[in-house]
Amino acid sequence: MGQLAPLRIAIIGAGIIGAAIADALAARGASVSMFDMRRPGAGASQASAGVLCPYTEGSPGSPLLALGVRSLAMWDGWVERLRESVDVPFSCARSGTLEVALSADEVAHLQRARAWLSAEGITHQWMEGAQVREFEPTVSTSALAGLVISGHGYVQVPALVTALMASARRRGATCETPAEIIHVDQRRDVVYVRVGDRVDEFDHVVIAAGSWSRRVRVADVPVFPVRPIRGQLLHLKWPGAAMPQRSVWGTRCYTVPWPDGSLLVGATVEDVGFDERSTVAGVRDLLDAVGELLPGAWQASLAEVRVGLRPATVDHLPLLGPLASHPRITMATGHYRNGVLLAPYTADVVTRQILDNDRDPMLALTRPERVLA
Ligand SMILES: Cc1cc2nc3c(=O)[nH]c(=O)nc-3n(C[C@H](O)[C@H](O)[C@H](O)COP(=O)(O)OP(=O)(O)OC[C@H]3O[C@@H](n4cnc5c(N)ncnc54)[C@H](O)[C@@H]3O)c2cc1C
Repeated sequence: MGQLAPLRIAIIGAGIIGAAIADALAARGASVSMFDMRRPGAGASQASAGVLCPYTEGSPGSPLLALGVRSLAMWDGWVERLRESVDVPFSCARSGTLEVALSADEVAHLQRARAWLSAEGITHQWMEGAQVREFEPTVSTSALAGLVISGHGYVQVPALVTALMASARRRGATCETPAEIIHVDQRRDVVYVRVGDRVDEFDHVVIAAGSWSRRVRVADVPVFPVRPIRGQLLHLKWPGAAMPQRSVWGTRCYTVPWPDGSLLVGATVEDVGFDERSTVAGVRDLLDAVGELLPGAWQASLAEVRVGLRPATVDHLPLLGPLASHPRITMATGHYRNGVLLAPYTADVVTRQILDNDRDPMLALTRPERVLA
């Protein structure tokens, strides 16, 4: 008996989501063809701060929290397997987050978070002002309280995308660039993808085109509303050796230290369409905020401003899963502020859905058609 031919799968978009899915599918022996209109990782992913913090991002009892917690639990094993696959360095650590209160209102907000974490049995630590400074000496002397969640982490996203692409390629995946895909059509068991002047045939297609997903038209399917929300992120070079040791959060900005002396400062949240420019106002707001939170930042140099378009949906949950009317087309987009956190979960459920026809129960939360009211 001859061997079955590998499933031919196209992935539209090579950001963190497309790259993670490509690597997972190729690891299982699928024949993966990626397409990107720019180059891998050049969309929202290159601007990402890479914080893995479901307990800060998700509200109590929310679907986002459930997805984030599930994905965070997969992170360590996922990174270990990637490092076994390729020798591309990227920094990733569970160094925790420290949320700082600088006013009475912010203390009250942190106390509510503390109560909820206690009720849920999530490991955390409460600190009064002086303790905060002892724990993290770079924090402002105005700190009134702090909340540490040690299970949170961060990853260097651009290098992670490079590693995922290298791993996917090592396993046989290809990536065509620049190749903009705007037309996809499933007829019976074949999905046709128009690439410039030619039409390629696949057994399955994954749409992972981030903020641009609505431009990928699927024949006989309404447009799924995904819209861009701009985020500006600063890369500072910290002066001297005494850098923050963990991700520090205030109400107006958050920071992520990298081992090479960079401090990321994020991020603006702006509804300005497909405008990927940085602005003086955005940079000023972030500089003011980080100077208030970590006064040593005033001595830092400004190395770079990165800008990305977060792919947002109406309910801020991703569109994840097969189309009901076209089951050979899977959506994996709309991850908004948490695409990095949710990458291992996304890659896993999409791979199991396509290769094993296994529908993870959590896919009910992210069914693409829910946004087509
Ligand atoms: C400033 C900022 C900070 C962030 N911080 C965090 C964080 O701390 N933690 C976290 O989890 N998330 C964070 N995010 C969110 C996260 O970066 C995104 O959710 C994630 O990058 C989305 O990944 P993606 O692969 O879906 O999209 P993208 O990275 O945008 O990739 C989409 C790709 O598709 C390609 N493409 C689009 N249309 C087509 C087409 N028609 N044909 C071919 N190719 C196409 C694009 O060129 C692009 O490469 C942040 C985002 C920003 C902007």
